[in-house]
Amino acid sequence: MQGMFFTGNSVVEAINIDKVGPASGEVLLEMKASGVCGSDLKNFRAPKSDKPKQSDLKVPGHEPVGVVAEVGPNVGGLSVGDRVMMHHYTGCLQCSMCLTGYTQMCLVSHEVYGSTEHGGHQEYMLVPAYTCIPMPEGLDFVSAAACSCGTGTAFHAVKRLNPTGLDTVAIFGQGPVGLSATMFAAQLGARVIAVDISPYRLNLAKELGASEVIDSSSHDAEQIIRELTSGEGAECTLDATGIPEVRIQAVDSAKYWGKVCFVGEGNTTTFDVSAQIIHKQLTILGSWTFSQAGLGEVANFVIQRQSPMDKLITHTFQLKEAQKAYDTFISGETGKVILTMN
Ligand SMILES: [Zn+2]
Ligand SMILES: [Zn+2]
Repeated sequence: MQGMFFTGNSVVEAINIDKVGPASGEVLLEMKASGVCGSDLKNFRAPKSDKPKQSDLKVPGHEPVGVVAEVGPNVGGLSVGDRVMMHHYTGCLQCSMCLTGYTQMCLVSHEVYGSTEHGGHQEYMLVPAYTCIPMPEGLDFVSAAACSCGTGTAFHAVKRLNPTGLDTVAIFGQGPVGLSATMFAAQLGARVIAVDISPYRLNLAKELGASEVIDSSSHDAEQIIRELTSGEGAECTLDATGIPEVRIQAVDSAKYWGKVCFVGEGNTTTFDVSAQIIHKQLTILGSWTFSQAGLGEVANFVIQRQSPMDKLITHTFQLKEAQKAYDTFISGETGKVILTMN
């Protein structure tokens, strides 16, 4: 069977790999969908010289969705044909973090599928049975893939901000995570101000429920957010970019007593803590993906509340078109991009 690999310098190559049957505690998934997430891009763009030898490369894709094709020994609760999403981390299953379902925060050690283990961009995928979360009735495979990292991350970040219909939420960055946050915050009744530099993505943000959009390539986002909020700032702000200057805007656009949620990863940012945070009585949150149960939770919300996933997911490609999928995604003229398998 074939798996896709990032072999360096933004190249995706199809390479034949062995199809291995499940060992004890494992299931083999026949893959149906595997999302393209912004956090793949660092590895996608890595120079060829930084790549390990081919036998040590791992299949990317950390939003895997499939149907159980084979069940290994000592697996309970899963049968051939079950439709599942994969919570793409392993943990020791014994420590206090694993017991809460946050295996990515395991205090002993953890693996990440699509990075330290083979991920979803392949025809079949071997996974521990405990990482499989049943897909709710009515959820399609591509929406399930989106929920499995980017959209799920946005859902749980918005949940922690906990906006009401009285609140304005300013969301910085309208890539797939920011767009998902816009969609969920709008569904919760909040007034959403979406910020990005891409007219395409700002247009999509409007379709997903943003009340106002700001092109920060030509406008001062903080100033416009203040103008739109009687000079006071937004009750909640969220940064999905990880860019230091944007994080500062997210903090400075928050109202006194407001909440700020950091989701975009990487980089270092410097704040004047007294002036920017303490004297504004801000609550600063960091939000990193979600627990095993949290994956089921976002999937149920999407189905029960009819989240407009068809607007969020703008592009699907066959597995063999993975190169085109990444090239299209990095153009910036997309919402969520998903690979699908027949
Ligand atoms: Zn653990
Ligand atoms: Zn991701």
